[in-house]
Formats: sequence, C-alpha cells, structure tokens
Amino acid sequence: MKEKVLTGETPTGKLHLAHFVGSLRKRLEMQESGNYEIYILSADMQGLTDNAKDPSKISENVFEVIKDNLSIGIDPSKVTFFVQSGVPELTELTTYYMNLVTLSRLKRNPTIKEEIKQRGFEESLPVGFLTYPISQAADITAFDATLVPVGEDQIPILEQVCEIVDTFNKIYGETLIRPKYIVPENNSARRLPGTDGKAKMSKSANNCIYLSDDKETVKKKIMSMYTDPFHIRVEDPGDTKNNPVFIYLDAFCTDRKKYEELKIHYEKGGLGDKIVKEYLFEVIEEILTPIRERRAYYDEHPEIVEKIVKEGTEKARKKANEVLKRVRKQIGVEYFK
Ligand code: ATP
Ligand code: MG
Repeated sequence: MKEKVLTGETPTGKLHLAHFVGSLRKRLEMQESGNYEIYILSADMQGLTDNAKDPSKISENVFEVIKDNLSIGIDPSKVTFFVQSGVPELTELTTYYMNLVTLSRLKRNPTIKEEIKQRGFEESLPVGFLTYPISQAADITAFDATLVPVGEDQIPILEQVCEIVDTFNKIYGETLIRPKYIVPENNSARRLPGTDGKAKMSKSANNCIYLSDDKETVKKKIMSMYTDPFHIRVEDPGDTKNNPVFIYLDAFCTDRKKYEELKIHYEKGGLGDKIVKEYLFEVIEEILTPIRERRAYYDEHPEIVEKIVKEGTEKARKKANEVLKRVRKQIGVEYFK
C-alpha cells in the first residue's frame, strides 16, 4: 500500500516562492516518484478563522491556489485536490479532538503565539483561530496520512497534532495514525525570508514574489530587494548570510558551483549587488516561465479546475468518512444499526 500524504494551504492569497520551496517542490517530487497517495487540501475554513469579516478573500482564492498547484505541474490524475468545507467529516473529527487539548496547551504553541502577535489579536482573538491546530489534526488523520511536507513554521503545529493522536489512541485504543512532517533538506528553503529581508516571506507582509507574477513585476521586485546594507561600494566585502538575495540563490539555484563562486566573490568584495540580482532574476525566471505557461491554460479553462476540485472533494469525503466511522466506533458514538 502506498504511503499517504496530506498537504495543502490556506487560500488567503495566491501562492509565492516560499510556498514553492517550502512545500510545493516536495509534493511534486513525491508525485513523480509514484510511491505516494497524495491529498492536497485547500483549507478554506481555516482561512476563515482570521478572515471571518472578509470571506470573499477566501472564496476568491480557493481556485487560485489550486491553479498555483496545477501550474507547478501537479497532475490531477495522480493527486486528490479537495476543499476543506466540502468534507464535513473533518468538522466532526475536530469536535471530538477538541476535548483532548487544553486551552493552555493551545496558547503555548509558538507558531500560534507568533501569528496572534503578528495579527495584533490580543483581546479580539477568535476562538477558531486559536484552535486551528486541532482542525489540522482532523485534516491529517482523516486520510491516515503518514507524511506531511511543510515549511519550518508548521513544526509546532505538527507536534501538537501528534499529541492529539497519542492522547486519542491512549484513551480510545489504537485508531489514528501518527504523522511525520517533512521539511525541505535545503536550510534556506525551510523559512524563506521576504524580499524586504524580514524573517518570513508572507502574503500578509507584502514581501512576496508570487508564482503568478509577470516577468516585469518579478524583475522590479528582485532589483529592489533588500541586501547587505553595509555593502555600499562594489569593492566592500559583503554579507551573504543575512542577505535574502543569497538566501534565495541557495534555495533556488541548481548550479551550485556558480552559487559558491558568487558567494566567495561577494564576501571578499568586488561584486556588485546589481550583478547578483540579475543572476537571481535569471534563476527565478527559469522556474517561473513554465509555471506561467501552464497557468495561462487553466486561467482559460476554469471549468476544468472546478471539475478537478469537485471530483477530488467527493473522493476525499469517502476516505474521511471511513476514518470517521472508525473514530465513532472507538468512542462509542454509534447508536443505530
Ligand atoms: P502566508 O504567511 O504567506 O500567509 P501561510 O503561512 O499562511 O503563508 P500556509 O497556507 O499557512 O501559508 O502554508 C502553506 C505551506 O507553505 C506550509 O507548509 C508552510 O510551512 C509553507 N510556508 C509558508 N511560508 C513559508 C516560508 N516563508 N518559507 C517556507 N515555507 C513556508
Ligand atoms: Mg501559515
């Protein structure tokens, strides 16, 4: 039997380069290997946890995010795309799991803590936002997923998911499969910084290069990227460690020899930012050009995208229902023959 993989994103905006290196690239590799049964989730209900007052932000992006996946080469005949709200079994599982997690444990989750701070929630924190790791436990366990490819920010969430699985199995008997996360091997890809040098490229921080950006936009964004602020004259030695231009090269450049040469040259001095940025632009364009071409096809055929998601959601629902039945049986929520 193939190992099952659950992965996906919240449809709060189009996908960017950090999603590509953080998780999309891995799912593509897994698809190509043929060794995995892959489910790709569009977590619209999770998106609503901090966008309840702006629901069109979510509904407008559900298909956009699926299109981003298709554009990078995800093949709908090999994977199952589904939308979270189309699988109500997930909500029921979430309700059972809620009883297995304490409020203080939820508040301790470092990723959640950081995201609460970033959103300035303080007293206005929606309950649904705080509990989204619980719904993520439902998303993962509903497919008996053993592997979850994610960026580094997701590790604390996955740890919490494992705790929920362990608690459930301890109380009700072995029922749920404990998942493992996979983060990118490349260190720079685990948490890609923004074009502004901030710690994380993120839709909300407005520091992204989107997979759907046109060539001109990409050029503009790369040429105005933050670099080493102390690298003033070309001959000055430069820092490559906290320099997003070099971090991007590390994450995206396949010509490792050239990357190392540029790095040594920049650190020594005598290499201008403009030259490095122009090279980075070339590297990124090589990745984005075929993505744009595939995207244009799906932009012209929204009916195909819709069919893929509709059929995928039906299939996902069947699988989630099997797990839900198992869960109900173990808890004893089974009254009618
Ligand atoms: P954003 O912060 O841009 O809204 P997000 O974190 O909300 O993005 P999610 O849908 O939560 O996006 O995440 C989808 C996947 O992309 C997750 O596996 C996450 O770890 C990964 N990811 C998101 N941002 C980055 C990043 N800067 N570097 C590496 N991986 C990332
Ligand atoms: Mg996130």
